[in-house]
Amino acid sequence: IAAANWKMNLTLSQGEQLLKDIQSKPHTLGANQLAIFAVPFPYLPMAQQQLAGKQNVFIAAQNCYSKKSGAYTGEVSVEMLQSLGISYVVLGHSERREYFQESNQFLAEKINICLEYNIHPIFCCGEPLSIREANTQNAFVAKQLEESLYHLSAEQLKQVVIAYEPIWAIGTGKTATSAQAQEMHAFIREQLTAKYGAATANEITILYGGSVKAANAGEIFGQPDVDGGLVGGASLIADEFVAIINALK
Ligand code: 13P
Repeated sequence: IAAANWKMNLTLSQGEQLLKDIQSKPHTLGANQLAIFAVPFPYLPMAQQQLAGKQNVFIAAQNCYSKKSGAYTGEVSVEMLQSLGISYVVLGHSERREYFQESNQFLAEKINICLEYNIHPIFCCGEPLSIREANTQNAFVAKQLEESLYHLSAEQLKQVVIAYEPIWAIGTGKTATSAQAQEMHAFIREQLTAKYGAATANEITILYGGSVKAANAGEIFGQPDVDGGLVGGASLIADEFVAIINALK
C-alpha cells in the first residue's frame, strides 16, 4: 500500500489538480498493490469523483469520531463516511495523539466502530524521540498495540492496516534507516504472532511512515516486513508520490 496523508493541506482546487497530475503520470499498481489517498473531510467526494473507476485506488478519511451519531458538534461519524462509500480511515496519527489528546483507549473505541461499519482502520503507532533515545521503543509500541488492538478477534485484526510512524521521523526529513524500520516492523509482527499466531500476523499490512520520499521508498519498501508507506509531505507532490507508488514491491 502506498498511502498519501495530505493532513491539513491544499485547497479544493489544488487537491483536484494534484489528483489529476498523479493520474497523468505513468504508474502501475499490481494485483495486490493499493494506492490510498487520505484527504481532508470536505474533499472526500471530490477525490472519489476524480479517482472513480480506478483499480486498486481507495479514498480514506484522516479521522472519525468514536460514537455512532448524536450531539457531537463538529465531529464526523463512521456511518457518514460509510454513506459516502469511504472504506479506510487513518486513526491514531501521532498528530492527533499529541494535539487532540487521543489515548490508546479512545482509539480502541474508534477501531471498534470502524469495524462495525466495515471500514478499515489504518492504525498509526510509533514512539517519540525521547523514547527512541532511551531505547524503550519496543515496549512503547507494544503497549499501543495492546491497548488499542488486542481486544480484537483475529478476523477483525485482519481488517486493520498498521502504520509504524516514529514521531522523530515525521516531517523532519530524518527517515528511520531501512534497518530501523525493518527492526520495528519485525518486532510488531512478532508481537502479533505471539497474540494471534503466524498465519494472522503474516496477513497484516504494516506500513512505514516518516519522511518517505521517492529517493528512499525503494529501499524502505524492500525490507521484508515493510508492506508500503504512509506518506505526508511527499504525497503533496505528484512526481514524488507517483515514484513512491512505483516503488511498491
Ligand atoms: P512526512 O512524510 O511528511 O514525514 O509525514 C509522515 C506522516 O505523518 C504520514 O502520516
